[in-house]
Amino acid sequence: MRIGGAGACHSDLHLMRDFEGGLLPWGPPFTLGHENAGWVHALGEGVTGVEAGQPVAVYGPWGCGHCGRCRVGMETYCEDPAQAPVPMGGGGLGIDGGMAEFMLVPSARHLVPLPKGLDPAAAAPLTDAGLTPYHAVRRSLPKLLPGTTAVVIGVGGLGHLGIQVLEATTAARVVAVDVRSEARALAAELGADLVVEPGPDAAAEIRGFTGGRGADVVLDFVGSDTTLALAAAVGRFLGDLTIVGIAGGSLPVSFFSVPYEVSIQSTYWGSRPELVEVLDLGARGLLRPKITTFPLDQAPDAYAALEAGKLEGRAVVVPRSA
Ligand code: NAD
Ligand code: ZN
Ligand code: ZN
Repeated sequence: MRIGGAGACHSDLHLMRDFEGGLLPWGPPFTLGHENAGWVHALGEGVTGVEAGQPVAVYGPWGCGHCGRCRVGMETYCEDPAQAPVPMGGGGLGIDGGMAEFMLVPSARHLVPLPKGLDPAAAAPLTDAGLTPYHAVRRSLPKLLPGTTAVVIGVGGLGHLGIQVLEATTAARVVAVDVRSEARALAAELGADLVVEPGPDAAAEIRGFTGGRGADVVLDFVGSDTTLALAAAVGRFLGDLTIVGIAGGSLPVSFFSVPYEVSIQSTYWGSRPELVEVLDLGARGLLRPKITTFPLDQAPDAYAALEAGKLEGRAVVVPRSA
């Protein structure tokens, strides 16, 4: 495919800096960029179902295509990873991705047609920064009835879309937490009902907002020791605490350390059917990634800005040919 945009994800910073201890079954060198959209450029022999020039988004996790999980479009949890193009990865994760003018996609099943009205550069972040929070929220939908509260910790690429997913698909009140004032301002602009600066009073402020009950669903898009402790401190009995961020923190779990009957889970990316749903929300204007574009030859600047906390929403790297 010809790339129209490739999002710069914080996971790439973790890959470049933190993951040296064999946490993943692969390592560099490969081309980064696992949030991709663009146009079909040319078809390999025997490929059907898409045509040259068609705008598409890439479903990023690439499994074997044959196991039970892959058959239902949940290639994140492929059960025959030895038969995948790369185990537990996809384009930009262990094998060349979309920070390039062109990208090789090994099967047409990884391409989802872009609905009308979605420009590839704006759509690219939906494939991960949109899909990942969507999957996490969807897992907790039964707990997000009217009268409930959801907390979003970390309003960056994922979190700013997480707020929009909650607003578009649930009736929960939304509380947003971020260390950066620009990110808190963005959260308020996106409709968060309460915006909180982390600190010694944050948990009491959030609990007070819920009438003392606590938050039904807490989505931690940071995943450090301090954010996980905050997540546990504000949770409601019977709620969900979902770890999405991979900052490497941990949370002690024991009878008294977390609210009673809270379900604690991690989530990884999302499924292909969920990506179709996310793109529909995008096309209807219910999910609007806030993007800053960088030309391909300035991709390192996108990561530098991400690392320095200077971005609002998502950086998208766009080739000059797009
Ligand atoms: P980002 O850098 O765009 O956003 C992170 C946000 O968290 C920033 O706004 C930052 O100011 C804020 N933050 C940092 N420390 C904080 C703290 N202590 N309290 C409150 N806010 C704080 O990153 P991103 O691309 O949105 O990714 C977020 C995390 O999710 C990363 O760890 C990334 O690797 C991970 N991730 C996980 C999955 C998955 O499938 N589980 C998918 C994509 C990304
Ligand atoms: Zn990512
Ligand atoms: Zn599989």
